[in-house]
Amino acid sequence: MYADVILPLPLSNVFTYAVPVEMNERVGVGYRVIVSFGSRKYYTGIVKKLYNNAPKGIEVKEIHSVIDSHPIVNQNQLDLWEWISFYYICPLGDVFKAALPSSLKPSDLQEKYTQKTETHIQIHPDFPAKYIESVIGRSKKQLELYREITEILSQKTSSTISRKELLDTTGYSPAVLKGLIDKNVIEQISVDVSRLEKDITETRTPFALNSYQQTAFDKIINCFKEKNTCLLHGVTSSGKTEIYIHLIDEMLRQEKQTLYLVPEIALTTQLTQRLQAVFGDKLGIYHSKINDNERAEIWQKMLSDNPYEIIIGVRSSLFLPFRQLGLVIVDEEHETSYKQQEPAPRYHARDTAIMLAHISGAKTLLGSATPSMETYFNAKNGKYGLALLSKRFEEIELPNIKLENTFELRRKKKMKSVLSPNLIEHMQEALSQGEQVILFRNRRGFAPLLECRNCGWTPKCRHCDVSLTYHKFGNTLKCHYCNTTYKVVRDCPACEEKSVELIGQGTEKIEEEVAELFPDFRVARMDTDTTTGKQSYDRIISDFQNKKTHILVGTQMLSKGLDFNNVSVVGIISADGMLHYPDFRSHERSFQLMTQAAGRSGRKIKRGTVIIQTSDPEQPIYRFIVNNDFEGFYNLQLTERKLFRYPPFYRLIRIVFKDRNEQKVESASILFANILKGSLKERVLGPNKPVISKIQRYHIREILLKLEVNLSPQQVRDIIQQAESRLRNKQEFKYVVVYFDVDGV
Ligand code: ADP
Ligand code: ZN
Ligand code: ZN
Repeated sequence: MYADVILPLPLSNVFTYAVPVEMNERVGVGYRVIVSFGSRKYYTGIVKKLYNNAPKGIEVKEIHSVIDSHPIVNQNQLDLWEWISFYYICPLGDVFKAALPSSLKPSDLQEKYTQKTETHIQIHPDFPAKYIESVIGRSKKQLELYREITEILSQKTSSTISRKELLDTTGYSPAVLKGLIDKNVIEQISVDVSRLEKDITETRTPFALNSYQQTAFDKIINCFKEKNTCLLHGVTSSGKTEIYIHLIDEMLRQEKQTLYLVPEIALTTQLTQRLQAVFGDKLGIYHSKINDNERAEIWQKMLSDNPYEIIIGVRSSLFLPFRQLGLVIVDEEHETSYKQQEPAPRYHARDTAIMLAHISGAKTLLGSATPSMETYFNAKNGKYGLALLSKRFEEIELPNIKLENTFELRRKKKMKSVLSPNLIEHMQEALSQGEQVILFRNRRGFAPLLECRNCGWTPKCRHCDVSLTYHKFGNTLKCHYCNTTYKVVRDCPACEEKSVELIGQGTEKIEEEVAELFPDFRVARMDTDTTTGKQSYDRIISDFQNKKTHILVGTQMLSKGLDFNNVSVVGIISADGMLHYPDFRSHERSFQLMTQAAGRSGRKIKRGTVIIQTSDPEQPIYRFIVNNDFEGFYNLQLTERKLFRYPPFYRLIRIVFKDRNEQKVESASILFANILKGSLKERVLGPNKPVISKIQRYHIREILLKLEVNLSPQQVRDIIQQAESRLRNKQEFKYVVVYFDVDGV
């Protein structure tokens, strides 16, 4: 027999090995095998295919050994890997690498998955209980402890108890325990324990849906009779999550699994608690902060006879082995963090979810208050079903959104801080009534930039072509791309004037001003600087939830799906920055961010207020935001997208070139573009120098392909791959980094 094996290498597709006769019975598709590759190295690979005909014209090595006694990936997963590799133009080996937790694919045989163990206590099997008093002698404490142990064990189903738990609950010192061990009354053993969280208390039945929710729920169920994908477009706080819970419940009745995808860890804490309250230990959690051994355990549990019925997870949970997948929910489907950026495979989790569901015979529900242009387009033209939820739960009105013209206010000298007088007034009123406030700023750092007042010079990173951000904490400048820190300068190196100053305001600056303005209230800040650990994120959220803090200042992290019931005022400080970002999606993103941020206010008790500070309130986008007019905004955007050949009318592929030598990256990209233009003609744009044209000493060039959606992906892929091999044929371009970003966001 012969086996095609996927190796964790960024090379071509699969490699063929011979199966030694004695392994014939022990190997199958989806099994891990160890094979040698190259001169000396051994790798763990996955068997993709087995067949009998010897491959012609190549000499094949034998499989070294078989690791598993059952497949650890199923055929659906292999099909999904293949689709990702095909559609996102990347090596299958890279998909394999991303898909399997690393402890399940040891590249040398050392770093294997390790079982977690715990020290337990049990009664020594040879110990005759009736002689206890004579054995222990005069030590009263030992005797008491012995009695407690037998008492505890008699109430347990297992015959052991964790040493730590025993000492913690009984309060005896380790010395007393040691006495018993030395006398062979009890013994210490090491037992395997699971890393997966378990202590789940009672669960409740899902809340009854209100009539709007019930209508939307029925619409979704009906839609799934004809279509594979449905969009739930529900305004913020309309109760989408409760609808998901009912759908999951329905899946449980049908004995099918649900995958509930969330954009990133920020969302999972509150949501996980809500889902756990209903589904208890049927729910598995797979987020980016769990460690690799935990990943491996979840994977193994999914393979077992008792798999999780529901997984809530970030994009990589798409790769888990499901047996009976019935539904994939993609919550906040418009989120850009669903797209993997670095490294390959650069897949979009929403689109990959739809493919996974298709392969598994399951359905996909996309949910959002602000759907992406692509999804809404598909829902409008009937490719997807569409269910609407236009009322907030308990019919609280959507927030009252007001614009503040900061340009005018500045001109009239009325802006005494980063907060407009009107915003300060609203905050004052809300806080005095015991309500809370969220202030939202789309940038981190104290003040984003240092600039010379005299000549306009700004400090940049030595390795990357980006301006440095000032961080008050530590009084340093930091590159957000490579994390290099620099000293702050006052003297301008360009004009030699002492006129370098801070401009703009980040979250740290706002926090400081707010603390000064409202000395009686507590301010907390949430951005990537304050939330490096999962704990700190949870703490900031729970402090705010428990009203220990009153004002929360943060970046876009704050706009995502959080459900607080006491926030009545949301301030969006300087909305203009995001609008002017040079990207065709900047208006779509701004609309989403502002609508979502606004949606954090007035969720439960009364109508909320949102104040958006802008120096350009005439921009049409604000009218749509103030009127909560998604449809109007969508139609205007769609016209522009069509005019300028962007998604959803065209598919974009970005081709990225990187090299330390600028001349080389320049000529490689020109050559590549010229080859492509031969067949793809005016669909090829560039090469261009991107906005950030140097990162970590690598110079960057990009080509953009704008492709009609009906152009065959296969054909395009072939053209691109031919161009790449022609480039690689030139010795000088052999090692230029080239990669493809399909459907970038
Ligand atoms: P969304 O996901 O649309 O933003 P949520 O599902 O978070 O909205 O709902 C908003 C709030 O209303 C939550 O606190 C939720 O618990 C509550 N809620 C929604 N639907 C119901 C229901 N049917 N019964 C009771 N509470 C509900
Ligand atoms: Zn840098
Ligand atoms: Zn200067």
